[in-house]
Amino acid sequence: MTSSLSSADAIVVGSGPNGLAAAIELARAGLSVTLIEGEAQIGGGVRSAALTLPGFVHDVCSSVYPLGVASPFFTSLPLAEHSLEWIHPPTPLAHPLDDGTAVLLERSFSATAASLGEDGAAWRMLLQPLEEEWPQLAGDILAPLHLPRHPLLLARFARHALQSAQGLAEAQFRGLRASALLAGLAAHSFLPLDRPASAAVGLVLGLLGHAVGWPIPRGGAASLSAALAGHLLALGGRIETATPVRTLDQLPEARAVLLDVTPRQLLTIAAERLGPGYRRQLRNYRYGPGVFKIDWALAGPIPWQAAECARAGTVHLGGTLKEIAAGEQEVWRGRHPERPFVLLAQPSLFDPTRAPAGRHTGWAYCHVPNGSTADMTEAIERQVERFAPGFRELILARHTRTAAGYELYNPNCIGGDINGGVQDLRQIFARPVPGPCPYATGSEGLFLCSSSTPPGGGVHGMCGYHAARAALRSLK
Ligand SMILES: Cc1cc2nc3c(=O)[nH]c(=O)nc-3n(C[C@H](O)[C@H](O)[C@H](O)COP(=O)(O)OP(=O)(O)OC[C@H]3O[C@@H](n4cnc5c(N)ncnc54)[C@H](O)[C@@H]3O)c2cc1C
Repeated sequence: MTSSLSSADAIVVGSGPNGLAAAIELARAGLSVTLIEGEAQIGGGVRSAALTLPGFVHDVCSSVYPLGVASPFFTSLPLAEHSLEWIHPPTPLAHPLDDGTAVLLERSFSATAASLGEDGAAWRMLLQPLEEEWPQLAGDILAPLHLPRHPLLLARFARHALQSAQGLAEAQFRGLRASALLAGLAAHSFLPLDRPASAAVGLVLGLLGHAVGWPIPRGGAASLSAALAGHLLALGGRIETATPVRTLDQLPEARAVLLDVTPRQLLTIAAERLGPGYRRQLRNYRYGPGVFKIDWALAGPIPWQAAECARAGTVHLGGTLKEIAAGEQEVWRGRHPERPFVLLAQPSLFDPTRAPAGRHTGWAYCHVPNGSTADMTEAIERQVERFAPGFRELILARHTRTAAGYELYNPNCIGGDINGGVQDLRQIFARPVPGPCPYATGSEGLFLCSSSTPPGGGVHGMCGYHAARAALRSLK
């Protein structure tokens, strides 16, 4: 089949942060690159849209980027020259409790310790040694399995990270406040909090709160994608949108093809190019729970009972570790919790471009079983109301999307899974299959570069970067 697409040394399919990162790294190495996106708008999980009322800008998927500012790859790019401006809310994260107070993850250890009471010193002892050496640690953990450059540091991280979040909290903390904070951070992993290694994501997000903050891009998530795309174009790359790739036959000749897709799509797009053993392993790849998300247009700021929540870009709603763990366990068993753990962002408090003057936006999601079509609006709004009485009266409009709806919006969100597959101890290393180069597919010149490869989900571009390096090595 002949293709109407531009031929190039390298073709990247999919313009999520990992596809964009892969394309940039290939172009930086001097290759001609064409990036092909199925949708009309680039960005994958990093897009913004007017989902509710005129003048309100909402982040359709991701919104807050600790891994983005911590990414060794993104920080090596001149993204500010392409109008990317990070806004740092004064407090990265707030976690309100039923007693009317809130635990705060602040940039400073002293301020965080003050909010943690009896466990302040334990929090500092757990995270400060890792935070101080974050740049070294980043190179070893935001990468595929390899001989570590800083083995002692990695061992110190792994000693805690390989524990369950519940086990780590029991071993380190005496009170409810630090345990609740850790539980909310660890729940980003989508794992039950009693699973080995469920502490890992919590530790990383906690130490990033101190090391780099949890910023948002001025203007919305799409500003980050636009900056990455701007840099790619400046390097001579080309971008073709509204071109879904159903088979590799659609693509022009290229020395390397990198796919920003998950294993299930890889099996459809490239089945005849893949060996039977590799295909079998891809079929066994596991996807995790999905998300149900709401975007609100609000008449005013969220009226938090603990007023300090208004200093935070992100707010975790779910109370104690016990309650959060129970909710996450329910989801893992295929049920919809009545009191789900809710991740909420309030970007317009810090970025006036997101809403008309005096108005605000709210962004929140909870975890649900994979493929769920359930509407969790009531359950989520009940959780917000619990910590911000009067919230419902501020709602001018809302937009909701179910887990199943996410897969329709972005084919990489299989059943609403936003991480490109379960990130448990086994699958974080064997991602998507065990082997020395997780990006290679066994078919010459064909690579996978999505979050279904190491280091996994989140907006950091490191999967794309490492996949591009693997492709470049193969071309030598
Ligand atoms: C609701 C939600 C909230 C999130 N919140 C955060 C957050 O706050 N912070 C954070 O760091 N992460 C967050 N994430 C996760 C983050 O968005 C993802 O981990 C990240 O986007 C993965 O990047 P990717 O490049 O691997 O894939 P994606 O971003 O999913 O991009 C894949 C792209 O490939 C395209 N594509 C797929 N198949 C084809 C095809 N056959 N032909 C052509 N194009 C194709 C898709 O259209 C899409 O544009 C969130 C995700 C969701 C959905």
